[in-house]
Amino acid sequence: MSSDALFEKVLIANRGEIALRIHRACQEMGIRTVAVHSTADADAMHVRLADESVCIGPAASKDSYLNIPAILSAATITGADAIHPGIGFMAENAQFAEMVIEHGFTWIGPTPEHIRIMGDKVTAKKTVIELGLPCVPGSDGPVRDFEDASAVAEQIGYPILIKAAAGGGGKGMKVAWNRDQLREAYQLARGEARAAFGNDQVYIEKYLANPRHIEIQLLGDNYGTVVHFGERDCSVQRRHQKVIEEAPSPALTVEQREWIGALAARTAQSLGYRGVGTMEFLYENGQFYFIEMNTRLQIEHTITEMVTGVDLVREQIRVAAGQPLGYTQADIRFNGHSIECRINAEHPDTFTPSPGLIRQYHAPGGLGVRVDSALYDGYRVPPHYDSMIAKLIVHGNNRTECLMRLRRALGEFVIDGVDTSIPLHQRIISEPDFVAGNYDIKWMEEWIKRRT
Ligand code: ADP
Repeated sequence: MSSDALFEKVLIANRGEIALRIHRACQEMGIRTVAVHSTADADAMHVRLADESVCIGPAASKDSYLNIPAILSAATITGADAIHPGIGFMAENAQFAEMVIEHGFTWIGPTPEHIRIMGDKVTAKKTVIELGLPCVPGSDGPVRDFEDASAVAEQIGYPILIKAAAGGGGKGMKVAWNRDQLREAYQLARGEARAAFGNDQVYIEKYLANPRHIEIQLLGDNYGTVVHFGERDCSVQRRHQKVIEEAPSPALTVEQREWIGALAARTAQSLGYRGVGTMEFLYENGQFYFIEMNTRLQIEHTITEMVTGVDLVREQIRVAAGQPLGYTQADIRFNGHSIECRINAEHPDTFTPSPGLIRQYHAPGGLGVRVDSALYDGYRVPPHYDSMIAKLIVHGNNRTECLMRLRRALGEFVIDGVDTSIPLHQRIISEPDFVAGNYDIKWMEEWIKRRT
């Protein structure tokens, strides 16, 4: 270990490809790693590669990856200095972040206060509106009851979208095209939100017809410097979940990118934001509308890394250790084009999850090809967790080269034993609309309907 390492040892409170991703950054920084795992993950790659590992509970996430006392105990026994929460699980849990800090560990993430503000989407919207960001028209706060919801809907005009204040992963989101539908959607959204988040507050937004999902990658240090790393276009979605992402967006000009990037960075700077974060916008008819901010690393951070050459996990660790960024916006260069395909263990047509034994695994390679995955020959994909098993990320000097490379790499990818979404990706990226960069957030669902 090098003597100038920022931390001696980091505990990675996650699993799968993201745990591996964080482990890799730590290793390259001379930092030792501690993996935590459930009983179902004893043979997982993140456990195999980490310097140390601790079993923190049974397969169910609530008993292991969400088990705060077990994670804190693991950090204490192993003498870790810092905890990286990864993506999902504890990453946006402000209370966990507070407890990590109270127990004397460094939290590799934004302040608990920022996590809390942005975790409640109603508060988040209010906060950024005050700082001058444009948002989708909607209710001023949570709606009190059906009549209140109906009054807001009449005022902004149907169709509207009901969203959960504590929302995430598209849960608790329902569209209504008229008052009758609103009655049912309002109840359904509240029920779903209560079940998923233990909080049934919902708010209302105008349901935009054909927007793109454009998000800005931000990074701030402890000393008031905030920079942006451009945008990602995540409009290829199914059930409000991202499937393919690309950077830069085929829909934006260089001027638009600079404008929205600078606006997002300025807003984060006014908040005193530290760490990585992403502001998500819908983009329609030349207008941007803020929808939410994620106070963590995102799955698709990889494409930003490919076009900027910056290791975002390394940056996260550096700023958490109190280092200044050491560069400004003017130092950030954008180079070429990158696309990521999220590969799931599921049937490519029916989307039925397909956990099981990986009989053969062969990842594509070559110039500009990156695979972030925790798979290996003989690994058994457990049924208990998210179905994403690999991310294929390619880079090219321009979008055409990137697409050709993506097609080539998908063709080389071998994952035998379970169904995967590789054939789905192959079909999508051959569609003339996708090739032309001509798609919005509704495109994929409409494409599925046309094919069936
Ligand atoms: P979550 O946190 O559950 O992922 P988001 O607010 O990030 O929720 O929205 C997820 C997706 O839902 C967006 O990428 C977009 O496709 C769709 N969406 C959200 N708000 C709107 C809206 N007002 N109009 C149309 N689509 C929306």
